[in-house]
Amino acid sequence: MSFLDRAARDWLLTELFSGMAITLRYFFKPKVTINYPFEKGQLSSRFRGEHALRRYPNGEERCIACKLCEAICPAQAITIEAEPRADGSRRTRRYDIDMTKCIYCGFCQESCPVDAIVEGPNFEYATETHAELLYDKAKLLSNGERWEVELAARIAAEAPYR
Ligand code: SF4
Ligand code: SF4
Repeated sequence: MSFLDRAARDWLLTELFSGMAITLRYFFKPKVTINYPFEKGQLSSRFRGEHALRRYPNGEERCIACKLCEAICPAQAITIEAEPRADGSRRTRRYDIDMTKCIYCGFCQESCPVDAIVEGPNFEYATETHAELLYDKAKLLSNGERWEVELAARIAAEAPYR
């Protein structure tokens, strides 16, 4: 580009106006960004987020302490201790997940015969301390109670493919 061409472009503000033309063009197009956290994008029913332990509609824990999830977990993030109840059924006394070890592979959910441990749609559980990500049974059950409607809908949506 010659000196005169460059001077003409600078003097006529060509680049400025071409940039503003692009801005104007996109100003009237549909927005591709969302105003997170007030707006959220669609999530697949296969999205693997925060873990939860589910109950049956009558309030009974689904988990039967078979420990398949603990055995299959490649990160060894799950720790279970089990004991028999007075009625002879077996339930967990302790069910811990170290969320900082978890790699969100979904194997625990896949291995569970009673859809007790699941990975839900929640991805907003960042914490300030490591200790807050060491989940115990009470925390996992409370997650299950909080997200049960969404969890049941996701399982129903995926049922034909399992
Ligand atoms: S998602 Fe994978 S790594 Fe995480 S607890 Fe389950 S089996 Fe372990
Ligand atoms: S969560 Fe499921 S796989 Fe894990 S111990 Fe309980 S019943 Fe077994």
